[in-house]
Amino acid sequence: MTPISFEFYPPKTDEQRAQLDRAAGRLAAHGPEYASVTFGAGGSTLSYTPETVRVLRERHGFDAVPHLSCVGGTRSEIRALLEQYRDMGCRRVVALRGDLPSGMARTGDFRYAADLVAFIRSEFDGDFHIEVAGYPETHPQASDALADLRHFKAKVEAGADGAITQYFYNADAYFRFVEDARRLGVEVPIVPGVMPIANFAQLRGFSEMCGAEIPRWVLKRMQALGDDAGAVREFAADLVATLCRRLIEGGAPGLHFYTLNLARPTGAVLARLL
Ligand code: FAD
Repeated sequence: MTPISFEFYPPKTDEQRAQLDRAAGRLAAHGPEYASVTFGAGGSTLSYTPETVRVLRERHGFDAVPHLSCVGGTRSEIRALLEQYRDMGCRRVVALRGDLPSGMARTGDFRYAADLVAFIRSEFDGDFHIEVAGYPETHPQASDALADLRHFKAKVEAGADGAITQYFYNADAYFRFVEDARRLGVEVPIVPGVMPIANFAQLRGFSEMCGAEIPRWVLKRMQALGDDAGAVREFAADLVATLCRRLIEGGAPGLHFYTLNLARPTGAVLARLL
């Protein structure tokens, strides 16, 4: 069975906390290897991520893994967070640059995720398994795909143990990315990020921002299904399950699900993979 992992975001309100509890409770039954918790850039969820990591560990029994984005952070802030995570028993982190909210000037001690990886290696060597982000369809700010691949390689050379990709709906983009990375000498596991579809309008907006392509035929099919929520759900789950099957058959070392703190979209995909 291919290992799976889940990603959650830190809730900020009581309603969101209850939603996370429901989703985590239901998804725990699928036996993920770990559950990661995102980190808001610019410090906005600085205090929420550790709390969510604690809840997922203590209440839901997950091996909870914090994301850590370095943009805007100082060495001492990041060091203190890593110490806190180490003391909580975390043994894995997802190291990112992150994005500053628009209009906020860049401050802080780190420029790129590779700098954060090097920092973790130099100050916490052996304490954490380090994951970094990869972009099968190229990071939106990269000058070109090859430059982005070289920057990806630099994160691995700085000490990353593995990578999780941005989501995509075109399996060939992932296979090509892995092949190109291997050709450059990157040997760490590259786990595809999978985005089950919960809200199509939201997904379209988000995909534009992060540079993930939704194939035209999928857009057209979704448009045709219109307001038929049941049909949209079925189509979305079939689409993502088919993608997952291709990824597994093609040798993906795991599947990392972006749950958006909802059990149903991810659960529907997993039910189809049994
Ligand atoms: P980097 O690897 O630093 O790359 C950023 C850009 O800079 C790329 O275009 C790269 O090509 C370029 N670059 C890198 N090095 C150099 C160099 N030396 N010279 C010139 N250009 C360079 N965001 C959050 O805010 N919180 C999260 O929790 C979070 N989790 C994520 C989890 C995953 C699995 C993924 C795929 C993304 C996640 N993101 C998260 C989004 C991520 O922060 C953004 O995509 C961000 O814009 C880039 O982060 P990075 O770590 O990939 O940056």
